[in-house]
Amino acid sequence: MIAGLKGFLTTIRWVFKRPVTANYPEEHLPVQPRYMGFPALLWDTTADEPFCTGCMVCVRECPTQCMSARMHDNPNFAAGTSHRRKIIEHFEINYNRCILCGICVDVCAFDAIEMTHEHELASYARNGARADLPILLSQGRRWMERSGWRPRNPEKNVAGVALAKRAPATAATKLDTGSGKAPSREDDA
Ligand code: SF4
Ligand code: SF4
Repeated sequence: MIAGLKGFLTTIRWVFKRPVTANYPEEHLPVQPRYMGFPALLWDTTADEPFCTGCMVCVRECPTQCMSARMHDNPNFAAGTSHRRKIIEHFEINYNRCILCGICVDVCAFDAIEMTHEHELASYARNGARADLPILLSQGRRWMERSGWRPRNPEKNVAGVALAKRAPATAATKLDTGSGKAPSREDDA
């Protein structure tokens, strides 16, 4: 009798508790902050372009060979609004083959790629898990906004900071050399 009453009270107590499940796919439970989902590419807002230069280091180091990339000359470099001579033109990750190892993030020297919270791959298309450059960049921007991401090496990789750092150095070089010419032996004399 007492045991039955206890069971009944337990049931009543749980009726008024908040459910720990979600009505997926309409509702999504938040993932934990340290969760490591698929990698995505990040966006340099100071130059309005990706951080990725297409250097191919991550592509070569990826243990499952699920990445491909191609670079081209950066028009923003020619316009003087970016310090990147080369910029990514094509990038693709086949998420079906990605093992979430994080090696691509570790080897990137340009703060260009991060492991995000992206984890949902369900698709009706056979190649629906292939993420191209626009998809990777939109995932990366979402990640930057949600996580408050900060670059590890802004002086080297953030265009606005790198250009500002170079400007005084360039001016000083011009002052030293006189109208930008290399110093000659006559100048030294
Ligand atoms: S993500 Fe980094 S390592 Fe990979 S191609 Fe871009 S700049 Fe190079
Ligand atoms: S997390 Fe690992 S497997 Fe996935 S793309 Fe990066 S290096 Fe390749």
